Amino acid sequence: WYVSVQVEQALPERVHPSTTDVGVDLGVANFAALSNGITYDPINAYRKYQDQLARAQRALSRKVKCSANWRKQKRKIQQLHHKIACCRLDFLHKTSTAISENQAMVFVEDLQVRNMSRSAAGTADDPGRNVRAKAGLNKSILDQGWGEFVRQLDYKLDWRGGMLIKVPPHYTSQTCSVCGHVSPANRPTQAVFHCQACGHTEHADTNAAGRMST
Ligand SMILES: [Zn+2]
Repeated sequence: WYVSVQVEQALPERVHPSTTDVGVDLGVANFAALSNGITYDPINAYRKYQDQLARAQRALSRKVKCSANWRKQKRKIQQLHHKIACCRLDFLHKTSTAISENQAMVFVEDLQVRNMSRSAAGTADDPGRNVRAKAGLNKSILDQGWGEFVRQLDYKLDWRGGMLIKVPPHYTSQTCSVCGHVSPANRPTQAVFHCQACGHTEHADTNAAGRMST
């Protein structure tokens, strides 16, 4: 027998101990760049183990299907996949905890991860360009776990009385976080932001993060 009892209890409204807010720009070179200048390196868990995984898969293909050795090898591959998933999740939890503890309000780009990682090959009518480069980027994007990260950030901020705000990603990469000037010329290189109007210079990801919270 199982008995389940549900109760409702009013809780005092939680107030986040911090009063600061921050913009977070999610990327591939930096996993996250915060508008206060803090950056988090990506772990690329899949990349790290992909050679090992390929080797294990080749070994599997040489074994007799459904034999004892084949089963053993299959289990090894599953363990490797599990390890990759655990590494990624551990990293996401540590990062989302750190940010949600230190900031009361977090702004993040409302990313459509699914759109970004759309098939690189395209369709027969509309074949994709730079297929190899895009497939590589897709792998990197999916390896980051941005969707899961934003989900964690959302509920962890909620626990602590903070708030997550999703900002539509309009020109954040070309807009100056200081004066609001928008121009493709503000991005002389991928990594550098240099405002053509006010001269504000910063790492491009940090500028994009700052743009979100202004
Ligand atoms: Zn400016």
